[in-house]
Amino acid sequence: MTDGTTDVLISGGGVAGLTAAIAFADAGFGVVCVDPTPPVTDRNADGADLRTTAYLQPGNSFLDRIGVWPKVTPHAAPLQVMRILDASGATHEPHDFDAADVSDAPFGYNVGNWAMRAGLLDRISELPNLQFVPGVATQSVLTRTDAAHVTLTDGTKVTARLLIAADGRASPTRTALGIGVQRHDFGQTALTFAVSHAQPHQNISTEVHRSGGPFTLVPLPDLGGRPCSAVVWMERAATAKTLHTMDEAAFNAAATERSAGVLGDLHLASRRTAWPIISQLADRFYGERTALVAEAAHVVPPIGAQGLNMSLADIEALLDLAQDQPDALGTPAMLQAYHAARYTDVALRKAGVGLLNRVSMQGNPLAQMARRTGAKLLHDVKPIRASLMRLGIGAG
Ligand SMILES: Cc1cc2nc3c(=O)[nH]c(=O)nc-3n(C[C@H](O)[C@H](O)[C@H](O)COP(=O)(O)OP(=O)(O)OC[C@H]3O[C@@H](n4cnc5c(N)ncnc54)[C@H](O)[C@@H]3O)c2cc1C
Repeated sequence: MTDGTTDVLISGGGVAGLTAAIAFADAGFGVVCVDPTPPVTDRNADGADLRTTAYLQPGNSFLDRIGVWPKVTPHAAPLQVMRILDASGATHEPHDFDAADVSDAPFGYNVGNWAMRAGLLDRISELPNLQFVPGVATQSVLTRTDAAHVTLTDGTKVTARLLIAADGRASPTRTALGIGVQRHDFGQTALTFAVSHAQPHQNISTEVHRSGGPFTLVPLPDLGGRPCSAVVWMERAATAKTLHTMDEAAFNAAATERSAGVLGDLHLASRRTAWPIISQLADRFYGERTALVAEAAHVVPPIGAQGLNMSLADIEALLDLAQDQPDALGTPAMLQAYHAARYTDVALRKAGVGLLNRVSMQGNPLAQMARRTGAKLLHDVKPIRASLMRLGIGAG
């Protein structure tokens, strides 16, 4: 890379950073995006991100608007029904939320993070005004009223009107700007993996609740002719550690038991990866000439598919402001408007997801009863169900 100036510099090329890079380049801005780790696009390769993401309706349309969605449709499984099953009592009564109750479209689509990265790189190759530089990191950041001056690890200096920090939960850009965070550690770990099973999933996403946290099965396209699902299994950290290293046959049996047998016997179809569960919120979503997006701004437990969907909403809000007034790119007025557009919505969702997670973790009978009654109430009272579902798909 050579020294230079650009409209937008993006620190971080995870799913959020690459999406932001495409969004701004698609709108005609000059963009540079850097990340120390080259993206892994093969699910079986070392370092592959084996998580899957449920892209809900608004995020979905945004990815379509910037030309990414057509690249991933072959790998997308529709989410038509969300089923909540309380497995803490003797009876396992399912409560179904059907997307058909509120819309013609499914709630969203599930796509493997590795497949999304491949789609993003494909779209990047079509944008000559976007320079993606893997293998290079942001080293230092100096901001002035007119620009951000960034030194990269290869010694290059880049000057940008707007710096977007998409460099993750430990964001070095956020630290360099002195923006603090509020962090809460839930003492849980999420194990993520794929399973094959004999029974078809019928595009139903199932959350099985007991103590320790939810066990969520999300539909994936068939693998080798067998029905397949992605699993997020949240447990207290010590239990999750045992499960992570357990031999495969014992793990298959434990996962099948924990799933309450909803899809029959489960068979591991990928490696297991472990993610500590925290929630975190930056004190503000901007600094001089800088916007924080995605996990640099907010982290929530993986419940209700909120994390990356909130990140897509961050990027869309920022892009809309930039397109409304291109000359104001990176100015205090634009960045304060971005903060105002996003902070309250994110804080509310973070609080809601945190509350759901706390209730779902509890093993005591009172909490179990609250879970059962809560699920029944949410499901049976039609206006509550409809508005919750609209909130989930962002239509209300
Ligand atoms: C188990 C699990 C399941 C989830 N499921 C869902 C779901 O179904 N739906 C949903 O919406 N969300 C989900 N999420 C959340 C979602 O995965 C995250 O929001 C998303 O991956 C975070 O994206 P990110 O790009 O902000 O961070 P990251 O993916 O962490 O990317 C940050 C990038 O910054 C780079 N970086 C670090 N330092 C530097 C530097 N100095 N310079 C430049 N780059 C740097 C890193 O290499 C990395 O590539 C889930 C999360 C977990 C843990």
